[in-house]
Amino acid sequence: MRVLLLGAPGSGKGTQGERIAARYRIPHISSGDLLRAHVEAGTPLGRAVQPYLASGNLVPDELILSMIRNELAEPAAAGGYVLDGFPRTVEQARVATEIDDGLDAVLFLDVPPRELVDRLAERADRDGRADDQRRATVEHRLRVYDERTRPLLDHYRRRGLLVPIDASGSIEEIADRIAAALAERSSRPADRPSVG
Ligand code: AMP
Repeated sequence: MRVLLLGAPGSGKGTQGERIAARYRIPHISSGDLLRAHVEAGTPLGRAVQPYLASGNLVPDELILSMIRNELAEPAAAGGYVLDGFPRTVEQARVATEIDDGLDAVLFLDVPPRELVDRLAERADRDGRADDQRRATVEHRLRVYDERTRPLLDHYRRRGLLVPIDASGSIEEIADRIAAALAERSSRPADRPSVG
């Protein structure tokens, strides 16, 4: 199973990504988690990306792309993966297809904007992520999502890969909707419209 998770900050990609990974026994590859680990470890990549994470801007494509290429080349990812937080730009999506054109589904976790802000505030209290703490940074990340990442919905819709998921409600309810959508999807693999 090769799955991408798309959705705004706070839409639950991390939580649901872990669920999907456990269910299908595939690695959960979160670009945000990988970047935060680099920052914490003080690697050269971590030092280069820290200002972007702190301000809520996107890390330049070339830095992200080499990191993700390495992750997808790991033997653990050979049997499938769930990618969370990547791609986030049309250019990243283009390269993602170049690396692997065998995606099964792009799940779009659809959450009403007001609920997103509440969830991010909750996460700020719970996880202590620096970029969740300042309201201005949170709002900036939501704007960056709208401008740079939302266009990917059309990109994948046109390719017949987009699977919208109603991602409001409890973690369990959302996980059940995702499991049903993936089961339906894998039982009808030949159903995709041709690439437009
Ligand atoms: P996330 O944990 O997915 O919300 O990502 C946290 C931060 O990491 C983002 O605000 C960006 O600064 C950076 N980031 C994560 N993934 C990407 C990506 N695919 N492209 C560019 N920047 C990213």
